[in-house]
Amino acid sequence: MRFSDVQHQERALSIVRRALSSGRTHHAYLFEGPEGIGKELAARALAARLLCEEADRKPDADACGRCRSCRLFAADNHPDFHLIHRGLHKQHPERNIRAGKGLFLVVDVIRHFLIERASTTPNLGIRRVFLLRDAERMNEGAQNALLKTLEEPPGNACLILVTSSAERLLPTIRSRCQCIPFNLLPPKYVEEQLQALGNVEPAAARTLAAVAQGRLGAALQWHRIGLLTALAQVSQALANGLADNPETFGKTLLEIARELAIRTVEETGHFAEEPLNGDENGETTRSKTGSKTIETDQLRAALKLVLLLIAAIYRDALIVQSAGEITLRALPPELTAVDTLAGDADADQLAERIQAIATAERMLDRNVAPQLTCEHLAIALTGELPAA
Ligand SMILES: [Zn+2]
Repeated sequence: MRFSDVQHQERALSIVRRALSSGRTHHAYLFEGPEGIGKELAARALAARLLCEEADRKPDADACGRCRSCRLFAADNHPDFHLIHRGLHKQHPERNIRAGKGLFLVVDVIRHFLIERASTTPNLGIRRVFLLRDAERMNEGAQNALLKTLEEPPGNACLILVTSSAERLLPTIRSRCQCIPFNLLPPKYVEEQLQALGNVEPAAARTLAAVAQGRLGAALQWHRIGLLTALAQVSQALANGLADNPETFGKTLLEIARELAIRTVEETGHFAEEPLNGDENGETTRSKTGSKTIETDQLRAALKLVLLLIAAIYRDALIVQSAGEITLRALPPELTAVDTLAGDADADQLAERIQAIATAERMLDRNVAPQLTCEHLAIALTGELPAA
């Protein structure tokens, strides 16, 4: 695990390296930035470095990769490295905690796996390092419980909080950490990595990279859930002329989102996409599709992906109007809505439609029902209703 494994994050890494070379590393870091851009990779490289036992290396260098600690770390078996994540509740000694849905990092999980462990002596004698994945999923109780440990971690412990939504953390949490911002990745790099890591065809890689806008992790997951199938469906729905019948269009979008939600649940067992609003009980509304049952929050997250696809198509229509090169290369020409939309509306109208899509996204963030959101969007895209 090396800092050089983290690509295109020079600014973030330079802050970490400066702290290492000065010998004054913080006891709490907040690695923040969009999903899938290398934050956790960098956190692991820092953790390996903080645990490395090799004394004779440059202060800002990587972990040595050879010592006992580095070998344990590489084998994912280091007794002083603790990954804190939402699935941990299943290992909690109390049955009622284990029975939870794991939507949030609750106080019992933080207390048992982090706060109590932090106060014990490290096994190898150096320090303990805690990596909190999706730190924003700590509910308020968990965040409050963590404050004291964050301020004064016992021993030499170091906490690395990783989040794609730092604004969901309490200001008191953020102020106790050194915040390190991570950037979106260059689309060209995402495209190359999709081909190298995910074995994705060039046209599909270009398309996924365009939709993901610099988020490699998201693009890889989308490849696995067949997002391009949904893109072709959305494109067809748009090309079929939504102005004639907004209601049918809304229903079609919902159906595409449902299929996507089912594929995502099959692939991951849960939705790893955008953090959703809600409490630990989540929503209990379920929606039946054939023999499959999906939760409303999963449908809402899938619909957000569908909105992302619609926005990408409209953006491409704008690009085509200004004689640029289409980014959604994986679309079969006979299906593409890009040309249809570019021919039907002027640039201002296209920009208005993109605004309407953003409005629909905000509706979903406010937990508006997916069906109502779709109906509203369909009407807004026909131009009959101003984007609110
Ligand atoms: Zn080492």
